[in-house]
Amino acid sequence: MRIGYLEDEKSQADLVKSWLLGEGFAVTHADTGRGFINLLTDNPVDMLILDWQLPDMEGVDVLASVRNQLNSNVPVIFATQRDAEADIVRALQAGADDYLVKPLRKGELLARLESLARRAGVTTDETRLTLGPIVLDNAAQKVTVNGELVKLTPKDYQLAYCMLRNVGKLLSRDYLLREVWGIDASLNTRTVDVHVSRIRRSLNIGPEIGYCIKTVYQHGYRLEKIQALEVVE
Ligand code: CA
Repeated sequence: MRIGYLEDEKSQADLVKSWLLGEGFAVTHADTGRGFINLLTDNPVDMLILDWQLPDMEGVDVLASVRNQLNSNVPVIFATQRDAEADIVRALQAGADDYLVKPLRKGELLARLESLARRAGVTTDETRLTLGPIVLDNAAQKVTVNGELVKLTPKDYQLAYCMLRNVGKLLSRDYLLREVWGIDASLNTRTVDVHVSRIRRSLNIGPEIGYCIKTVYQHGYRLEKIQALEVVE
């Protein structure tokens, strides 16, 4: 599970990062609101911890950008000073899921993250991913649909893995290219489109299984649950 962490105070950031890494989380950290939003654009995360007072923005504005600009509904915990009740109310109204009062305490932070992950259905077990009839077993590097083994090329497998562990998140073509192919100047983002179409077909992702891979114009793809109203009869 990857945590996006926004904190401008270095000693606090180093401390919390060490707690998170020690628990086996991956961490994407930034120390300005603007830098954080840029970072998240190309680095999807599973949960966010947001500081409230930043040099360039307020936590509430970062939260609004995450929800609107990045169109992300990842769970968000924010950290605030003890006396800022008005801030807490604003953050919860802006769509934060939980808050912690500084100074942060390790046990409490980890417990809140765990409980939030459980509530939000964020998967912590990345060796076996399930999406309707699709089961990806990362230990065996195999994918089955309705129990039947599906043959995928190694790149298609990597792409399927990347998309299945980021359900609901917008993944840019650049991000997918980096995750699956590594940085390679000889490839262009059109390659991603070809492979996405292929796994959509091989894994039969569509209305029958209740999920689709949505193409987000000029940006990338999102594997998402089809809302009842959108189901094509
Ligand atoms: Ca701060």
